[in-house]
Amino acid sequence: MIKQKPASIFLFIIVLIISAFAGCSPNNPSGQSTSPQTQPATPATSNTSQSQQQPIAQTGRPGQFESLSAAPVNSWWFETPDGGLVMFDAQRTLTDARALVETIRSTGKPLRALFMTHPHPDHITGFGTVKAAFPDAAIYSTAEANSYLDGKGKTLLGMNVKFFGDDATAGVPRPDVLVTDGQRVTVGGLEIQARLLGSGESPGTTVYFIPSLQTLVVGDVLTPRRVPFMAAAETAAWLKQIAVLKANYDPGTRVAPGHGPETTLKDAAEWQTGYLTKFRELVTTAVDPGSAGGACVTKAEAASLLIEMRRAFPTVEGVARMPPDNLDALNIEGVSYELSGKTCPGVENPVR
Ligand SMILES: [Zn+2]
Repeated sequence: MIKQKPASIFLFIIVLIISAFAGCSPNNPSGQSTSPQTQPATPATSNTSQSQQQPIAQTGRPGQFESLSAAPVNSWWFETPDGGLVMFDAQRTLTDARALVETIRSTGKPLRALFMTHPHPDHITGFGTVKAAFPDAAIYSTAEANSYLDGKGKTLLGMNVKFFGDDATAGVPRPDVLVTDGQRVTVGGLEIQARLLGSGESPGTTVYFIPSLQTLVVGDVLTPRRVPFMAAAETAAWLKQIAVLKANYDPGTRVAPGHGPETTLKDAAEWQTGYLTKFRELVTTAVDPGSAGGACVTKAEAASLLIEMRRAFPTVEGVARMPPDNLDALNIEGVSYELSGKTCPGVENPVR
């Protein structure tokens, strides 16, 4: 765990950003990752890796690589009818990306494609590592994610490098294929449908539906029982994105989230909608001009809000790489700004 040092405010801000983009679960200081209940408990092949692997079982379930370093993030993969693999997202550090590559290699199957759900550093830092290992794998992304990476996303990747040093890179290879909303692509005989959701948790948010597997790869649109990242001040748009998913896919659709175990659309959407809605309601009260701090959220209001959130929406133990309340503070800043339009002193939020 990294603690704030008064003399290093800049580092602190970076920690805030990195941790937030990692989708960390501030309730767990233990550093332990939870094992997906729906995944076979396959032992990792390497004790030196900081990561665990969940290769595709004989049942055709998705393969999952969940980094075991702080704030674990998922890479998911699926077998194609021609015996290859397609994968979604590629980890936040080079160490994790290399372990991911080894895990993919251990399947003995060629990687045919790598898809980007959204252009946040914790999901794309390893793209170059994967591409170097599997040069024939085409990278699929969107023009929106691309333009973000030409702008503010570049800054965030740079901050990721400052935090992780040699274990990160700001160099993300350009996509080979830009998908558009509703586009269906077929890779190795596997059909994948792209749905562009735009800005919400992240700019350039895209989900991918695999009809033959009734599976939706959602990135961080749905990360149930993980404290979500709301600093971008786009929770209204985010809620609409979830409504779009509920309107277009069966409730029993398998969801492969950016963080945490696989789940169903019904469960994930209920939790995420509930969390965002409740948070917005509590912040609305706290930014009421007649409240204690007026349009700004006081420390007492924030503490009360968080107690209520913990009670209503407990988060699973995960990993935090900052004091537990810092992501919450960043989230309160983002949502209070979104709802009041006012910037208040106290919390630096360079994300929105
Ligand atoms: Zn994430």
